[in-house]
Amino acid sequence: MTLPHHPTPGHELLGTCTLVGAGPGDPDLLTLQALKAIQSATVLLVDDLVSEAIVAYASPTARIVRVGKRGGCKSTPQEFIEKLMRMAVQEGETVVRLKGGDPFIFGRGGEEVEHLRAAGIETRVINGITAGLAGPTAVGVPLTHREHAHGVVFITGHAKPGHSGPDWRLLATTARDARLTLVIYMGVGSAAHIQQELLAGLPGGTPVAIIENASLPSQRHAVGTLDQLAATIDAAGLGSPSIIVVGNVVQALATLAPHSAVAAR
Ligand code: SAH
Repeated sequence: MTLPHHPTPGHELLGTCTLVGAGPGDPDLLTLQALKAIQSATVLLVDDLVSEAIVAYASPTARIVRVGKRGGCKSTPQEFIEKLMRMAVQEGETVVRLKGGDPFIFGRGGEEVEHLRAAGIETRVINGITAGLAGPTAVGVPLTHREHAHGVVFITGHAKPGHSGPDWRLLATTARDARLTLVIYMGVGSAAHIQQELLAGLPGGTPVAIIENASLPSQRHAVGTLDQLAATIDAAGLGSPSIIVVGNVVQALATLAPHSAVAAR
């Protein structure tokens, strides 16, 4: 690793660490703060959902470390990523941890900030547009609407190993009674289970939309109803990364495409 600063023993010159949200994929959805941080980084640790077009904004002399699990490699253990970040900061590097969407929405950003704080390093966090916002918007679905939804819940469909997942039945009745839109991350793999549980509280005819690769040229989506959620995903061949939206806010889109349909962007 090239060291721009040489810490003297006993008087360490620390670098900096910034968690940067890269948004859903389209580089035009980066914030200016994110772009500036990427351009000035000397070391970038890059998650797998970050598109190459965004990594291309890094300085040609920056060291780029890919820590994602796609592309055939096993996911880098979280502890190892945190250690790499800490060491690079202690060596005086300008470290950017680049994450898909927003670092504080299902991005383990909180864990990384805590780890670095325990090592005496304060981390700056730059928001990105989270997929749960970008996905629905990309197909014209508003998350709140005075007629249909008073609020929105961002929820994960994937539980930490050994932990039980969300209480879908409770969510279903809450969403029904309080008129909330459900936005489910990491849910396509367990769509059949989520569908079954949500049907305990929400009508089978509740509109749903599934948006894959939101904001990217490969974006696709399907629309259906809750009682057909898993079948709609299967029929359209949708996979990860996708966002599932459940609620009456999808109605306008569903009316435009009453039968489940996949559309290119
Ligand atoms: N921090 C990220 C979420 C990481 S969890 C954010 O704020 O967006 C990973 C999940 O995010 C995926 O399983 C998928 O549900 C969702 N996701 C990320 N990028 C996406 C995209 N471009 N289109 C649809 N869903 C996406």
